[in-house]
Amino acid sequence: MKDMMDSMTRKSVRILILTPEHTDYLWYVSLLRGCFEILPDTTWCPDLIDCDDLIRNTTFEVIVWDCALHGGSEVGFLQYLSVSGSGKPILALSAETESERTPEMLINGAADYLRKGGLDVWSLGRAVRCAWYADQVADSANGRLGCEVASGFINRDLFFDRLQQALLRAERSETQLALLHINLDDFRSVNESLGYQMGDQLMLKLAERLRQVLRRVDALMRIGGDEFAIIVERVEDSLDITQIIRKVVQALNDPVVVGGNSLEITASLGVATYPEAGDTSETLLRRANRAMFEAKLDTGTSYRFYNQQLHITAGRQLKLEADLRKALRGRELELYYQPRVDLVTEEVRGVECLLRWNHPDGTLVPPDEFIPAAERSGLIVPIGYWVIEQACERLREAAALGHPDLVFAVNLSFRQFHDRKMTETIFRIIYNANVDTSLLELELTESAMMHDPEYAQRCLRELNQLGISFALDDFGTGFSSLSNLQHLPISLVKIDKSFVQELGASGDAEHIIRAIISLAHSLQMSVVAEGVETEGQLEFLRQQHCDEVQGYYYARPMPWHQLIEFLEERNRLACLQQ
Ligand code: C2E
Ligand code: CA
Ligand code: CA
Repeated sequence: MKDMMDSMTRKSVRILILTPEHTDYLWYVSLLRGCFEILPDTTWCPDLIDCDDLIRNTTFEVIVWDCALHGGSEVGFLQYLSVSGSGKPILALSAETESERTPEMLINGAADYLRKGGLDVWSLGRAVRCAWYADQVADSANGRLGCEVASGFINRDLFFDRLQQALLRAERSETQLALLHINLDDFRSVNESLGYQMGDQLMLKLAERLRQVLRRVDALMRIGGDEFAIIVERVEDSLDITQIIRKVVQALNDPVVVGGNSLEITASLGVATYPEAGDTSETLLRRANRAMFEAKLDTGTSYRFYNQQLHITAGRQLKLEADLRKALRGRELELYYQPRVDLVTEEVRGVECLLRWNHPDGTLVPPDEFIPAAERSGLIVPIGYWVIEQACERLREAAALGHPDLVFAVNLSFRQFHDRKMTETIFRIIYNANVDTSLLELELTESAMMHDPEYAQRCLRELNQLGISFALDDFGTGFSSLSNLQHLPISLVKIDKSFVQELGASGDAEHIIRAIISLAHSLQMSVVAEGVETEGQLEFLRQQHCDEVQGYYYARPMPWHQLIEFLEERNRLACLQQ
């Protein structure tokens, strides 16, 4: 009963206790249990190796450190703890008096110092509670910015501290880091026309919005009246930063409603990366600041990198994504169709729908050049639905033109499986189009299902129940074996063109193709070989009883009207031969 009462009123705090002596550990625990405001959830660690492992892989809210545990130097160990412990408060304990040790401990990262001889329930309990409480406040200031912004409180020290810690982590883990400095354009006129309170409200709303588009690990802080800083850790490549910039710009661009007024604001972003632009927090901020001032020269919400090369790369990526968005709206996308021919009857059984982009500059952009950008930005989701819609429309047209059994195969990207409404949306599209779903086939690769296999399987089953069939694309390039996939509703396997094109050049390709065909057939799946270009490849596939082929040998992907002519020409020839 007492325990139950305890757990209802006391806050549970996860505490790591670093001390070489078990008796000392038990003593600390008994003191902490006596403190009626917290419910200590303690872990004992008496040695350095375990300590490193625990700190990296477990989350603690407070670290109680008996200075007797160190790797040679107390100060060195404390600095290590404050960097590796993700800024969690450290309470240092040792035999010397408070006046002797406290300054040194605080300078090197401890939240507080207590003399072991003077410890009791009150002193230890109070120190743990205060450290824990201060950390919660700092976290929420960093995370939600709520109280900080509302009160107009701007914490530059906290910011420098965070940046310093992040830089140390980046250095230790040899990863990149990016600092974004955001300054609102013409914030003064907001303050002057609507008052300072509204100005603060605006900052608060923007902070909330920015928080939503950032990852949990990214730190967002208000560092000036009209300024934010964002620390982005563990940057893999320039693409990562580009993605964040895109989301931040989007978040800033939408109008903000404060006090009934809809405000359209613009901002300037400066980006400096570690290690390229500097390795101290002061240099990094100065350079991000300089880049931000350069961005001010452009109109609208704009960004600049301190590093010119990064600026060019990111610019190219973002422009491609913006152009693609326009392409979808402006009907610049088009489907090409590549026939799939039955090896026994020589009839065209189906077509694969392949995207092309009629770029305003007059060129025809192949999918390999824009699909990765569409996947990164998430645009592949609406584009993918457009492709299915278009395919359904053509399916009806084909039937009306005398090709009622033509199968239409559409490619699905892994990213489309991130859309939780995928089956629902596809269902709506085919329902509206009123087509025979048995003529619709979706091609997907093994990797498309890797992200969330359970969800992917559910999608496949649901769509399969509607009559849609599935083909496994690029087969042979992934890792799974066909037998792993037999519980999925897959009725067709497409042998990757790299194997077909190796035919004749390597014996391996022949073995692989033979094995895929015989295994697929034993699992009641049909086989299509892709990339067939020569008579020799065709002959080999025919001998191996491959069901269908697709490739330049018969036809390249072509626009719709050309496909119709192609089909009519083949029908005419077939009639002549009969
Ligand atoms: P994929 O699904 O493997 O499509 C087959 C690719 O092989 C097509 O390239 C096609 O033009 C090419 N191909 C066909 N026959 C031959 C041949 O005999 N020789 C050679 N060398 N190549 C041949 P394409 O049209 O450039 O498409 C490239 C990839 O883009 C596709 O590979 C597919 O992964 C992706 N893609 C195309 N359209 C879409 C789409 O609507 N949605 C999604 N998510 N991806 C698409
Ligand atoms: Ca395909
Ligand atoms: Ca393929």
